[in-house]
Amino acid sequence: MDFFPLFARLNQQRCLVVGGGEVAHRKAVQLLRAGATVTVNAPDVITPLKSLSHDGQIDLVESPFDAELIAEHILVIAATSEKTVNHEIAAIARRLQRLCNVVDDGDASSFIMPSVIDRSPLMIAVSTGGESPVLARMIRQQIEEWLPSGISRLAAWAGDWRDTVKKRLTTHAARLHFWQDILDGETGGHVLAGRLDHAERTLQEKLATTGEHGTIGEAWIVGAGPGDPDLITRRGLQLLQRADVVLHDRLVSSELLAMARRDATIINVGKKADAPSTDQADINAQLVELVRAGKRVCRLKGGDPFLFGRGGEEISALAAANLPYQVVPGITAASGCAAYAGIPLTHRDLAGAVTLVTASRAAGQNAPDWDALARAGQTLVIYMGTRNLNEICMRLINAGLAAKTPAAIVEQGTLPEQRIIGGSLHNIGARAGAAGLQTPALLIVGAVTELTDRLAWFGTSDAKFDSSHKVSSASAR
Ligand code: SAH
Repeated sequence: MDFFPLFARLNQQRCLVVGGGEVAHRKAVQLLRAGATVTVNAPDVITPLKSLSHDGQIDLVESPFDAELIAEHILVIAATSEKTVNHEIAAIARRLQRLCNVVDDGDASSFIMPSVIDRSPLMIAVSTGGESPVLARMIRQQIEEWLPSGISRLAAWAGDWRDTVKKRLTTHAARLHFWQDILDGETGGHVLAGRLDHAERTLQEKLATTGEHGTIGEAWIVGAGPGDPDLITRRGLQLLQRADVVLHDRLVSSELLAMARRDATIINVGKKADAPSTDQADINAQLVELVRAGKRVCRLKGGDPFLFGRGGEEISALAAANLPYQVVPGITAASGCAAYAGIPLTHRDLAGAVTLVTASRAAGQNAPDWDALARAGQTLVIYMGTRNLNEICMRLINAGLAAKTPAAIVEQGTLPEQRIIGGSLHNIGARAGAAGLQTPALLIVGAVTELTDRLAWFGTSDAKFDSSHKVSSASAR
């Protein structure tokens, strides 16, 4: 962290702006808005600064930079047009341990000002640490668009009820859960819409029915999608951001985990393929235990929880323990990889059906019915099949699929590192070996896979099918 974010109370605090131009004027006005006592120091100032001084709103020291002034102020903004003067100001401020901002010069500054959304009492500050003020402004605009218009009322209203709730609910966790439900639920909706009497009634009702130690815990089994963090659903993200504890798979991206609450406990329960099934029993037990202890647990799983994800076993454990849960679907690897590889899974001319199957040899897993899978005119998507790739291809050929049936492997699908290896049942294993296959990877079998040569749009495709046209390459988003 290059800069420590904080909100400073500047009311009646002495602040110094050195400079007499537009920028100095803008900074002086910002400081005045925060209630600061502002001194402006410059040999020459523009008219608006003169009028501020005339109205008694600022103290004007009309002289060249006067180093004596710095010690009398808690913070300094260097806004002269002379770089050397600005640096001199910064150097003196540093020596006297005063905070100093040099306009448009993050390196010389000991504090910088963020891009701000002011819906007081709600205040949102965005900073890129001076790297890209334009990006900060864009992000601010996006947040602006997303914020409901009544948000400032909601923040103030919550402030009014804070003490009442605090007296009634004794633990931090109980209050946190209470407020999450209130602000995000019906009551928050009433406040945003200005129906304050309805809001008060529903809040009182909830307060009356919530035990002193808060509501009970809950588990949210959330599909994180195949890799690209943007592919999680809105609902999934909402619940992730609310959770006290996040139990996540190995494949879940760190970008997503970074969106959890700052104080959430993040636990990696990732299993390697083919690990003994006791691991799953441990996860189930851990889920039950956490929810029983009153936690809101987000169980974040790669892809979709109900496709080769053992989400069913997790909710069975919760159901057996009589604990509440929700399941949020996710984009499964087959959908994600197919989309980002330009491989339509069904196609009017090429594939009338698609089968998702796992070829993992984990204990207790049923062996696939190869005869049923080996049908022309359909697409086969094989999860966890890359270890025994050669065996899978051989079995499909033995069961009747032509050796020249096109096949593709999508490696690290939807991620910037995505690679596509193309071939046929006959040679895909060798090609994967030669390409140094990485995991996770998905094997797709069927005529549709060849379309990636023409339709790939994400990253670079080196599919190189037998019937190879050109190796297609598309620039990433
Ligand atoms: N529940 C998950 C699947 C878990 S099984 C889902 O719905 O997607 C794990 C297997 O999924 C991996 O072995 C691999 O075959 C596949 N997989 C998951 N993410 C992938 C990705 N980004 N690219 C390619 N394959 C992936």
